[in-house]
Amino acid sequence: MPLPKAELHLHIEGTLEPELAFALAARNGVPLPYAHTDELRKAYQFDDLQSFLNLYYELMAVLRTEQDFEDLANAYLPRAAAQGVRHAEIFFDPQAHIARGVAMGTVVEGLWRALGRSTENHGVSTQLIMCFLRDESAESALETLEAAKPYLDRIIGIGLDSAEVGHPPAKFREVYEAAAALGLRRVAHAGEEGPPEYITEALDVLGVERIDHGLRCMEDDALVERLVRERVPLTLCPLSNVRLRAVDVLAEHPLPAMLDAGLLCTVNSDDPAYFGGYVADNFHAVRDALGLDQERMRELARNSFVASFLEHDEERRARYLAEVEAYDFPGRP
Ligand SMILES: [Zn+2]
Repeated sequence: MPLPKAELHLHIEGTLEPELAFALAARNGVPLPYAHTDELRKAYQFDDLQSFLNLYYELMAVLRTEQDFEDLANAYLPRAAAQGVRHAEIFFDPQAHIARGVAMGTVVEGLWRALGRSTENHGVSTQLIMCFLRDESAESALETLEAAKPYLDRIIGIGLDSAEVGHPPAKFREVYEAAAALGLRRVAHAGEEGPPEYITEALDVLGVERIDHGLRCMEDDALVERLVRERVPLTLCPLSNVRLRAVDVLAEHPLPAMLDAGLLCTVNSDDPAYFGGYVADNFHAVRDALGLDQERMRELARNSFVASFLEHDEERRARYLAEVEAYDFPGRP
């Protein structure tokens, strides 16, 4: 039985495996420029953020109907359950779909057909976080929030993703203020390839409660102290960092130093179909590459539930945390 954990940094579009991409392409009559799944899987071997994003957006063309989004989520959930995930806070990128003529309602209702029954069907509680594409305009983000208003009972919060450099958090001040007024939780990608100042800006200008990635905080001691003092969770994605060259090799990942500094770190999978592993694979990879012991692994699992947006159901959080404390590691951690 795998270590129980929450997944807090997972883009549902990034769970699209080549087999499902081909199945949906066939169902919807969408041509793909790949002869078969092996050729597509080879294309998943990109070497920087832009080449990843190009493929990521290209493949989204196969997602057209509510059924497609339901199938996408229903493919992820059993994989997550098998990786020990008890709770998942799942990102989606509505602008990437709306730009292709797929309505907000199609995306949200489709995902919800799977997520609304995820606890009963897969033993995984789920929440949905709507991300804005930071390389799109602030006006587009505001329009997207407006389009989401009929579906806010299905969406717990907002996030900010896609190409970071040149798109500082402050660009989205207005939409984050509007979202806060609607009672939405707020997170943002910051300090992945962007500088530590973007982390500070996300906290001060956008009022975020968690930082997605955030590993570049380690370049600024005062910022690290602040993140520790304010108990700001960081959702790290180690295999993603290696694939997108945020770190050269996993053995050089700053995770151990971050934990030693007292940061509230969590380990997540980001876009697992593309980055070579789901969340338990990330846990195992850091354990092996960085020599993390069982208590460090337990700390990462504990942090994932501490950092979860479960304030509306503290009983559930307490149950998950008790599971982590009671977990018996198998012969090998
Ligand atoms: Zn991400």
